[in-house]
Amino acid sequence: MEFIVRKLASRPDTMLVRYDCACGCKPNAEYKQGSDEVGSEHCCCGNVHFVGPNAKEHLETDLSERKAQGEDSDVGEYTISETKVDAPWGGTIPVAYAIPSAAREH
Ligand SMILES: [Zn+2]
Ligand SMILES: [Zn+2]
Repeated sequence: MEFIVRKLASRPDTMLVRYDCACGCKPNAEYKQGSDEVGSEHCCCGNVHFVGPNAKEHLETDLSERKAQGEDSDVGEYTISETKVDAPWGGTIPVAYAIPSAAREH
């Protein structure tokens, strides 16, 4: 998975992390410099990505909460991975993402 980082012109302390999803969407997650709050987006096909400190823990919590509510049962098991992206202001920011075994139709 290749992530593209963009800085918001109107808010230079905020970055957008997106990828070109196989389903045709371009899911975007937002992260603000220095924030403890993670950004995330669930794509229509079932892919999920989280950006920010402890992104993987947040992603795992989110997926298990959704599972407990009976969501995502149609997409099968998730494979979770993590990486880092370069922040526009320097340093790196963790990104975690999950790919379902059976993606939904776009
Ligand atoms: Zn998608
Ligand atoms: Zn889509």
